[in-house]
Amino acid sequence: MVFAYLIATIGLVQGLKFMGDPARAKLGNMLAAASVLVALVALVIATGWSHLANVFLLVALLAVGTFIGNIWSNRVAMTEMPQLVSIFNALGGACAVVLGLNAVYGMGTPVDTKLLGSVLILANLFGGVAFTGSMVAYLKLDGRKLPRPAPVQKVLARISLALLLIASVYYLVMPGDAGFYPTLLLAISIVALLYGVFLTLPIGGADMPVLISLLNALTGVATMMAGLLFREPVMIIGGILVGATGVLLTLQMCVAMNRSLAGVLAGKFAGSGSAKPEGEQDIRSITAVETASMLAFSKQVAVVPGYGMAVAQAQRECFALQEMLKQSDVDLHFIIHPVAGRMPGHMNVLLAEANIPYASVKEMSEVNNTMEHYDTVLVIGANDVVNPAAENDPDSIIYGMPIIRAHKAKQVIVMKRSMAKGYSGAVNTLFDRQNCKVLFGDAKESLEAIINELKRI
Ligand code: NDP
Repeated sequence: MVFAYLIATIGLVQGLKFMGDPARAKLGNMLAAASVLVALVALVIATGWSHLANVFLLVALLAVGTFIGNIWSNRVAMTEMPQLVSIFNALGGACAVVLGLNAVYGMGTPVDTKLLGSVLILANLFGGVAFTGSMVAYLKLDGRKLPRPAPVQKVLARISLALLLIASVYYLVMPGDAGFYPTLLLAISIVALLYGVFLTLPIGGADMPVLISLLNALTGVATMMAGLLFREPVMIIGGILVGATGVLLTLQMCVAMNRSLAGVLAGKFAGSGSAKPEGEQDIRSITAVETASMLAFSKQVAVVPGYGMAVAQAQRECFALQEMLKQSDVDLHFIIHPVAGRMPGHMNVLLAEANIPYASVKEMSEVNNTMEHYDTVLVIGANDVVNPAAENDPDSIIYGMPIIRAHKAKQVIVMKRSMAKGYSGAVNTLFDRQNCKVLFGDAKESLEAIINELKRI
């Protein structure tokens, strides 16, 4: 049993390490899943045979979960992956809450010390917030219309937080060591579930990456607490890994967005607007044929991919364009913004899928101060991450967020289907720049047209 747990732990850590490298990410994912399976089988063998009914129940539930998960993730469109990840995260939080309630209401380890009681509170507190918070995040990512946050919501969030603190402190200072009040835990769980909604609803579109990674961290911590409660080493280790990576990612996202975590959580950046009203922009459009000749006469080209590239599934056409231009000695780089797309690493995954060489993929910080060297920048389905309003419009909802300075290049061509705004809802002042033109249409179709024209040239 100990040996199997050791193998599973090493597998989990190694799997996580592999996930940091796009070429081995798939292997890392499979290794992590296999490690969890090893731990489960070891658990069944060690404890299950005495309760044969439990073994059947566990195997049956595993089979049902695997079946549903497999069908679901195979059917889901690549663009809906962030929503699926949010639901998986929510389920992790919900499991921690159910396990916690189970511990005081039914079976499981008796919660007979203050220490275990505190662990139980944390499991349900973090799990509850992660569950409802991730469900609201799912609805936001799915583009559902949610009620506009009313000022009363902030008050309700503060009241819920205060209640959670009071209930936790009350438990810690109340006399006696044995037992736990089931009603108290139920109350904490319910308030935590409400707090998840009040916390998540007002957070502005552009700040969603910070929130998503934070919720991920909370699920990890809740899992770790549930693992402590049930004295399950692999659950503890898995929880620690998810919690720690989630916290690191949250901090990285705060840096990438130039936001303080406290500010994001307080909904400080959920303002609404820009100095420039919608519809007042003077747009210059360009055709695919003109774009192709502009590219053919360039020496240095950069592609800034965004969520629209994922929607259009245009990553393979990006690779084809790179190969095509290489034949004419045109150097093409990809520049990735840390929050481009709808989940951390979204663009890296898509570019890796299309076998785009890593050497040509640049981080924003590597090239942002030398953007004027690029003759042409192709913005493929990106919007917020190239919006200069983030640098010079204090009224903009994304003011202060670092952006890829595409506007500094000699020419910028933005590929999009309409004048719809990006996820944050901010007006993009890039379109006002004299060096910016818009190539309207689906990114994949536009790229195909450009490649055909380049072949003809
Ligand atoms: P944006 O959401 O700002 O813009 C996407 C653009 O793609 C839109 O302008 C849209 O315009 C265009 N588009 C959509 N479909 C197509 C298509 N088929 N062909 C061509 N264009 C298309 O994306 P960015 O990547 O620039 O920014 C990401 C935003 O999402 C940021 O605000 C970020 O904070 C937020 N976010 C990021 C998360 C993360 O973890 N990375 C998580 C949650 C939110 P049109 O409809 O006119 O075509």
